[in-house]
Amino acid sequence: MRQNTIQKPVSIAGTGLHSGKTIHLKLLPAPCNHHIVFVRVDLPGKPCIPACIHNLSSQMRCTALVHNKAKIHTTEHLLATCFAMKLDNLVIEVDGPEIPGMDGSALPFYNMLKEAGIQEQEAQAEEIIITKEILLQKKANPLWQKLLQALKIGGKIHSSNIQVLPHPSGLKLEYFLDYSFSHIPKQNIALEIEEDTFAKEIAPARTFALQKEIGIGQKILGLGKGTTSQNTLIITDKGEILDNTLRFPDELARHKILDLLGDISLVGKRIHAHIIARYSGHSLNAALAKTVDSL
Ligand SMILES: [Zn+2]
Repeated sequence: MRQNTIQKPVSIAGTGLHSGKTIHLKLLPAPCNHHIVFVRVDLPGKPCIPACIHNLSSQMRCTALVHNKAKIHTTEHLLATCFAMKLDNLVIEVDGPEIPGMDGSALPFYNMLKEAGIQEQEAQAEEIIITKEILLQKKANPLWQKLLQALKIGGKIHSSNIQVLPHPSGLKLEYFLDYSFSHIPKQNIALEIEEDTFAKEIAPARTFALQKEIGIGQKILGLGKGTTSQNTLIITDKGEILDNTLRFPDELARHKILDLLGDISLVGKRIHAHIIARYSGHSLNAALAKTVDSL
C-alpha cells in the first residue's frame, strides 16, 4: 500500500467552537514521509505541530496537539477524515488555535478533500497489524458523577473500556453508547472503515453535548463560545435535540466512532484491527493510540 497526499491545495473557513472566532484552513500537498503537519500561520515564525501521538495534550472534551509551545486543538474530525481517506502527507495551515467546527461533523472536511483529489506517492505506507487482544479500562471519573448529581440529572456514569482484536483485512470499529441518564436510548454501531462507509455513515455524524453541560462550559470555563444548536446537537433535559433534527437515529454513537478514528489516527500508520469501545472518550482513545503506537 502506497502513501498518499492531495493533488492540489484546498481551503475552508468556519467558526471555532471554543473561541467563537472565524478560522481559515488551507491544506497543501506534502512529500513522502512528511506526515500530517499543522502550521500556525498566525504566530511569529509560523511554528509546525506534527499530528503525532507524542504531541497529544490533555484537554477538556477534545484533542489538542502541542509542539514547542505552539498548540492546536479540536483536530479530531479533520484528522479522522484524513485517516479514513488514507492520506499520509499534508500541510495544514491554520490561522488560529483550533480547527473550525463547521456543522459539527466531518462532512465539510470530507467534501473539501474529495475536491482536492488523492495523489498516490512512491513510498510505502506503514501498517500495524494487531495479532493479540488488547484491553484498556478506565474507571468512571467521580467528578462527572458529582457533576451529574449537582445538575440533578441523576443516572450513573459507566466505567469505560476498549477491546482490540485481530482483524487482518482492515479496520473495524464498534461503539457502545449509554446516555440513558439523559433519556437518550442506548446506541451501538459496528462498521468496517473504508472511505465510502466513512463518507456515508460516519462523516455526517455531528458532535453533541448536554444543554446543562454547555451552560457550565460557557459560564465557568469560558469554553464553547462558538457552540450553537446548528453546529452541535444540544441534548435537553428531556433527551430532545434543541432546534435541530438527527441525521441518524444513532448519530451520537456514530460521532463517537468519528472521534475514536481521529484519536487513533495519531499513530500515523494504517491499522488492521477490530476495535470495540464501550463508553470511551478522548482520554481512553488516547491511551489506546499510545498502546498501539508502542507495539
Ligand atoms: Zn467529535
